[in-house]
Amino acid sequence: MKGDMSTVPPGWEVLARSRATHSPPELLLQVAAGLRATLVVDSRGRIVWMDPVLAGAAGWRDGAPAGHPMEEVLGGLPWLKHALDTALEGTEGLCEGHEHGQRLSAVVVPVFGEDGTQLGVCARLRTLDTPKQPPAGERQAREHLEHQTSVLRATFDSIADGVIVVDLSRRITAFNKRFQEMWGLTDEMLEERDAEKALASAAPLVKDPERFVAGILRRMLPSSEAENSDIVELRDGRVFERKSLPQRLGDTIIGRVWSYRDVTVERHAQAEQARLLAAEQSARERLEESFAVLDTFLNHAPIGLGFIGKDLRFLRLNDALAALHGRRREEEIGRLVREMTPHVASTVEPLMRQVMETGRPIIGLDMTGEVPATPGQQRHWHVSYYPVRTAGGGILGVGAVVVEVTAERHAQAERERLLREAREAVRIRDDFLSIAAHELKTPLTPLKLHLQMMKAQVGAGRLVAQHHVDKALTQVSRLAVLVNDLLDASRIQAGRLELCREPLSLREFVREVLSDFRSTSPLHSLEFEEPGEPLVVMADRGRLAQVLTNLLENAFKYSPTGGTVHLRAERVGGEARVSVRDEGIGIPEDQQAHLFERFFRARNAPISGFGGLGLGLYICHDIIERHGGRIWVESRLEHGSTFHFSLPLAS
Ligand code: ADP
Repeated sequence: MKGDMSTVPPGWEVLARSRATHSPPELLLQVAAGLRATLVVDSRGRIVWMDPVLAGAAGWRDGAPAGHPMEEVLGGLPWLKHALDTALEGTEGLCEGHEHGQRLSAVVVPVFGEDGTQLGVCARLRTLDTPKQPPAGERQAREHLEHQTSVLRATFDSIADGVIVVDLSRRITAFNKRFQEMWGLTDEMLEERDAEKALASAAPLVKDPERFVAGILRRMLPSSEAENSDIVELRDGRVFERKSLPQRLGDTIIGRVWSYRDVTVERHAQAEQARLLAAEQSARERLEESFAVLDTFLNHAPIGLGFIGKDLRFLRLNDALAALHGRRREEEIGRLVREMTPHVASTVEPLMRQVMETGRPIIGLDMTGEVPATPGQQRHWHVSYYPVRTAGGGILGVGAVVVEVTAERHAQAERERLLREAREAVRIRDDFLSIAAHELKTPLTPLKLHLQMMKAQVGAGRLVAQHHVDKALTQVSRLAVLVNDLLDASRIQAGRLELCREPLSLREFVREVLSDFRSTSPLHSLEFEEPGEPLVVMADRGRLAQVLTNLLENAFKYSPTGGTVHLRAERVGGEARVSVRDEGIGIPEDQQAHLFERFFRARNAPISGFGGLGLGLYICHDIIERHGGRIWVESRLEHGSTFHFSLPLAS
């Protein structure tokens, strides 16, 4: 056997650097490796490792007898055993002996942990024919070794994990203080170094002792090679992460290392984090649910609803509001109010800002305008803006509620119009009744008078005076005209005014009407400007005469101070046109459009000054339209009026 004891072998530094991960037996083994020991014995004198050559020399042909007492193993090498005994008592030594004709010498060194506990003994053997290393080198190596051993021991005890090392005979070969603290195992409890007893003391601390013990014992079997880790839960709430791995010497498993790390805080933190995550998740789900419900209500609400953020962007809105802007809801979310509603932005933006600045709502604002959805159409809304606040009272934005009231407004306008019309109808009826009464009564009084005169004359046996008869007949005609006008008006209303049309030459026709038309007024003169051609139209002779007579009578009637009434018939394009011009009171411009309405009388023609039921022009209008013609007026107040009607010429 050859060897070299000179210095710390290469690789020692690496072992030294990784010392924090090694247990006491490992320390012993590391020291042994550093020394290139031939033999390693633990503190109880059991063989930990033995060079196979030496094992052979001691008579153990099948390899290193780890775990056996050294007396049993080294029976054939008493000189070596003696040196080992001395070293186990703490004293290093040198010894020599013969074996198979070779002189051997051994350096035997006790190995101590940091707490002074002896870990074991390392022996290094060499043949004496190898030149001796200077003793100073050996000493130096040993001192270095002891120093490193104490460092390793200190490191072992200072690590945060509790570590225990158990050999294959279930004897505890090392443990650190942290291990004792974690499991509450006193020095006395571990004195015997019996792993099973220590396990029995520790097991009651665990929640599931049976499983715990079974797991440890299973891994203590020499066949259990694998590294593994698991979690041990203690009754007092602590949680340990346990790792176990085989302890090897060279390729040989000589025991098992167990390390425990207290992961209670991390576990609780993890559990708390998981709980918080779950709570957050469930809160988020609840929130999403609420939003879904809210969205359903929002989107099916018949009114426009929106939530506008501080930067005046739509954060939420419903279909009804988006539809007002002519878009879909998704297109508007996140967009500026200004972009989406440019037509009303200048009105609504200042209001929204006001709500956010003052925190006070604006309720029931009436707004009218056009929206892109219905261009060119005025729509009306009732709009309210409310501040939207956080639970802490901070303003988040503005909630907008837009209620469409266009239909109501139209209905209201229609109601008002109908009411006005109804009132107007009532007024017209009342006016008509009083006018009709007045108009009917007017001829009755002279009629009655003339009849009484005639009665008196007949009673006195005298002849009835002709002028009484004529006057009475005039009043009867007047009554007949009034009654006929009323009948015609009601026929027109019922759509029952009928025409009997025939070809008429306007020139002859007008001449005929004029021959029947008698004006007794000395203030007026009448001129007829005849057409140069007959101008034939298809017309109802009687009805057309009624129209012309009415226009002529009005021309005289509404020219109280006299003047010339000018009648003209002419061809204009494919039409025959008849015009009656007077120099009378004229018609206010704003009244002209209503002249042809039933019962209409212009305000400058009071009933007291000018009789009439306001039916003549209404009847004329209807008769002319039934002939396929038109009737209209040109007039200037106090400068006279010209009434025209035109009829299609007969082809
Ligand atoms: P009335 O019986 O009241 O004359 P009309 O229908 O013939 O009824 O005329 C309607 C109204 O038109 C008159 O009350 C009067 O105010 C106005 N009017 C008609 N003709 C003339 C006219 N030639 N000059 C001024 N006003 C006229």
